[in-house]
Amino acid sequence: MHTDTIPKISIDSAEYMRSDAMRTIELPSGDKLRALASHLKVALKGEERKEIQAASLSLITELATAYEIAPPPLKVLNARPRKVTENYATETFGDYDFESTAIRLWMRTAVQKKTTSYGTLLSTLCHEFCHHLDVVALGLPHTYHTRGFYERAAILYHFVQDTPVRSIVWSPHRNGTFSVDWARTMRR
Ligand SMILES: [Zn+2]
Repeated sequence: MHTDTIPKISIDSAEYMRSDAMRTIELPSGDKLRALASHLKVALKGEERKEIQAASLSLITELATAYEIAPPPLKVLNARPRKVTENYATETFGDYDFESTAIRLWMRTAVQKKTTSYGTLLSTLCHEFCHHLDVVALGLPHTYHTRGFYERAAILYHFVQDTPVRSIVWSPHRNGTFSVDWARTMRR
């Protein structure tokens, strides 16, 4: 995980800094979210795309309800593409379209067509949901990948999964960006 390059235009860099400084996220009540996440885990084992899509949609709709925002349209697709256009914030297994607010998650790897692990799918779902939250609720229309963004997404992911949050250790780069120091993060 590497943070985005800091934008040059001042209004955009101000948004970037706001996102970077927002290192935590308010959490809703977890019981229903965790039940729906378990349901997604079961659906993923069945490897049926429609079931996985329905379970993902229920979970993200519940997240949106909890944060009192409109649920994003969501699609689960099979093998992930190896190249995605510049109009999307691309991730390994998902993306978010700023304009339509639609989320896409891919349930299979590009080459071997293996089903994504539950942890990866849930983490991608939470990551894309955080983009949606930035855009529609937090006043962060560019939804940059900042330290704050990654930390908010991680807090949400661990909350839904009911696992302890590990605080991320960041390594600074010369251009002002950061990447995760996984070795030191995992030692914590
Ligand atoms: Zn992203």
